[in-house]
Amino acid sequence: MLQRSFFNLSVPKFYYPSILPDRPAVQTIPAPEKTTLFLENRFDPTGKQKPTTLSVGDEVKTGQKLTAPDDPACYITATVSGKIVAIEPFDGDYGRQFTAIAVETAPKDTHDEEFANLIEKPTLDLAEQFLAAVPGAPQLALLANPEKPIKTIIINGVDKDFLLCTNQYVIDTERQALKNGIRILKEISGIESIVLVVNETHVRGCAGLGADVKMVADEYPAGLPLMILHKTLGQTLPPGKQFEDIGVCFFSAEAIASIGKAFETGRIPNRKLVTVIDPQGERRLVIARIGTPIRLITKACGITTGNGDRIILGGPMNGTTIYTLEHPVMPDTDGVMIQNSNELALSSDYPCVNCGDCVRICPALIQINLLVRFLEAGQFEQAADEYDLYSCVECGLCSYVCPARIPIFQHIRLGKYELARSLPGEPQSVEEANAESE
Ligand code: SF4
Ligand code: SF4
Repeated sequence: MLQRSFFNLSVPKFYYPSILPDRPAVQTIPAPEKTTLFLENRFDPTGKQKPTTLSVGDEVKTGQKLTAPDDPACYITATVSGKIVAIEPFDGDYGRQFTAIAVETAPKDTHDEEFANLIEKPTLDLAEQFLAAVPGAPQLALLANPEKPIKTIIINGVDKDFLLCTNQYVIDTERQALKNGIRILKEISGIESIVLVVNETHVRGCAGLGADVKMVADEYPAGLPLMILHKTLGQTLPPGKQFEDIGVCFFSAEAIASIGKAFETGRIPNRKLVTVIDPQGERRLVIARIGTPIRLITKACGITTGNGDRIILGGPMNGTTIYTLEHPVMPDTDGVMIQNSNELALSSDYPCVNCGDCVRICPALIQINLLVRFLEAGQFEQAADEYDLYSCVECGLCSYVCPARIPIFQHIRLGKYELARSLPGEPQSVEEANAESE
């Protein structure tokens, strides 16, 4: 009988690797010949309804809003000037549907001045109308919902996955833009309670930015929103609720710096800072226009890819695999990771062997070896009611340590997604969703 030493029950720890003191130089990727912008089809999950009044052949200017006709709140901002050469539906993850708008880049930027002409009087409405698609993708609409008033804004200066350094770089290098962004956010929202969350390593110099600075440990997953909520406000999110239901909303540090720059310069920021992790685990930072194909980023970083290699948007713990290098950088793409096919940790259909590794590492203290059985069987309600599905902070550590290679984290995400779809008021089918949009 195989026996394990008691001392082998220790839990591995993952520390956010700091980019200090050898902060890498940021590599700038030139504007691509063609950018692709994703406009989310919020009202038509089939993607059949034409979500934009734009047509192939139309000219667009840098900074111009590309809007869905039925829903002005749904827009993307052109990040180059040029001519629209294609408009096609695109299937995202978890049922999300987008319209991909491809723009052939003109040699020079011609700027749309609509935003610049209005910035003298910053308002929440103005920010909401023009800045939802800046780097960091701030959900400004949350601040304007009278049914769910926000009392506290949390600015997250910690990256959402292990190995990413996008937000810590912003914290270290864009203090003036952050300070401006925080000042404007207070002014336009009237919310005084603004908390800036940073790692222990990056806290120095954060005083004086206009926010209440809170520090979290350098150990992953201390920077995930549910962990921050508990650590800094002493609150937990009730099952099935969103942060706005308890009067809290999160923005990334990059999003706030983007807001600061936009109101300072009159130009809508369009370059995304992305952490690139190569197959050897080396990290570098690049800056590229939103809409740049990932292919150009890996090429600029000297990373070659072959059949079966894995491309991940995000980081190793909770990133999402994509299937083509033509996928563009999006406003919330903080990281791109490439794994070689011969080094992939493949998932499997092996059963749980009850080793307990997942239970020991879970920061939410969930009985995962039991939870996963209900998730695998599609019994999501029971998983939520009896096995704490909603306590999961979505760190991905359980999948990482599971010796049976069970894709636990993916099961968890799917379970939460299916339960969210079954909430009263949510469309249960394509027909229902279309009926609602009429
Ligand atoms: S269940 Fe897994 S993903 Fe969720 S908090 Fe626990 S270890 Fe993290
Ligand atoms: S780590 Fe994997 S095999 Fe071990 S108890 Fe958890 S689910 Fe089962």
